[in-house]
Amino acid sequence: MFKPKAYSVKAYATPSATAPLAASTIPRRELTDRDIQIEILYCGVCHSDLHFARNEWHFTQYPAVPGHEIVGRVTQVGPKVTKFKPGDLAGVGCLVDADLSCPHCKKGLEQFSPTSVMTFGSMDKHLSLPTYGGYSERIVVDEHFVLTLPQNLSLAGIAPLLCAGITTYSPLRHWKVGPGKKVGIVGLGGLGHMGVKFARAFGAHVVVFTTSESKCADAHRLGAHEVVISTDAAAMAQHAGSFDFILDCVSADHDINAYLGLLSIDGNLTLVGAPEKPLPVASFSLIFGRRSLSGSLIGGLAETQEMLDFCGQHNITADIELIRMDQINEAYERMLKSDVKYRFVIDMASLKNT
Ligand code: NAP
Ligand code: ZN
Repeated sequence: MFKPKAYSVKAYATPSATAPLAASTIPRRELTDRDIQIEILYCGVCHSDLHFARNEWHFTQYPAVPGHEIVGRVTQVGPKVTKFKPGDLAGVGCLVDADLSCPHCKKGLEQFSPTSVMTFGSMDKHLSLPTYGGYSERIVVDEHFVLTLPQNLSLAGIAPLLCAGITTYSPLRHWKVGPGKKVGIVGLGGLGHMGVKFARAFGAHVVVFTTSESKCADAHRLGAHEVVISTDAAAMAQHAGSFDFILDCVSADHDINAYLGLLSIDGNLTLVGAPEKPLPVASFSLIFGRRSLSGSLIGGLAETQEMLDFCGQHNITADIELIRMDQINEAYERMLKSDVKYRFVIDMASLKNT
């Protein structure tokens, strides 16, 4: 088997859980037959980047380069690539490889494959080195994991669809959110604001739960029919037992029993937020009403393409604040204060000047 060599590209990395990110270099591989090399133009900033950079999930190896909401331009393709040619626009999300032979991959659920390789924090099987994310000049990805982008939308606004978009689209589709359904979205951050846009586009009655009073007007503008300040016990009580589905997009410790109690009989709460600490569940929150609690991880490649095509047809992008690469540490601090409306996106051209 051809063993590609590594070459160096510029990136923004952190050497430890407590150090800021700074300019660095990382290895990328020469192209194998099915590989695509992409010059990264924009990269979204997901709260998972922060959890990972600061080792909040306890598996980070350093140096670490986050970033998995990647859009860019194809610069080179391997000889067996059929979907892309140099000059095309292309997107990459949280997955960059898998052997595609397991039952999950065959069902289009590559995210659950035992051989799946994440964009950062996994192992590049060709180089036997860690994978490094999108805060970098270029990335090399197997073509199965490269997405075609809608041509009619702003490129920077598309980037967050590659994680925040698919992570909310997939469970809303799985739980058949649509007309006649009352749906709650908890946490109006990067994921939450995409959840509101999709739930509204699917025809549901959408209620946003936020801790930030300052986001109420935006929640309505983004598509919510109602907004509840989740610290207001009386406002919460008015919705008891009434929701078909709730999508929990919160990045930090919070009381999920307060939301389980809002579900109707057979209602479901799906967690996509991945806080560092476990969330206690009171069994009575589930037993009364035969309610269920589940999780969801991004989405497979076919569904990600379906989501991007849907966004193209319905003119859906993320609401973004464009930043330079050297503003990333400040952006992380603002994200921790829920001060992001509603996704930071890095203009990767700014990496050159760091
Ligand atoms: P984000 O932009 O920082 O948004 C998180 C939101 O949660 C905040 O804007 C805030 O909304 C709310 N929040 C924050 N701290 C809170 C607290 N202490 N109590 C209650 N609410 C709080 O983060 P994100 O990028 O959307 O990511 C959200 C979570 O999803 C992260 O844990 C991330 O790792 C995870 N994630 C999971 C997947 C997956 O596949 N399952 C994929 C991507 C991300 P309000 O101001 O409205 O209260
Ligand atoms: Zn993400």
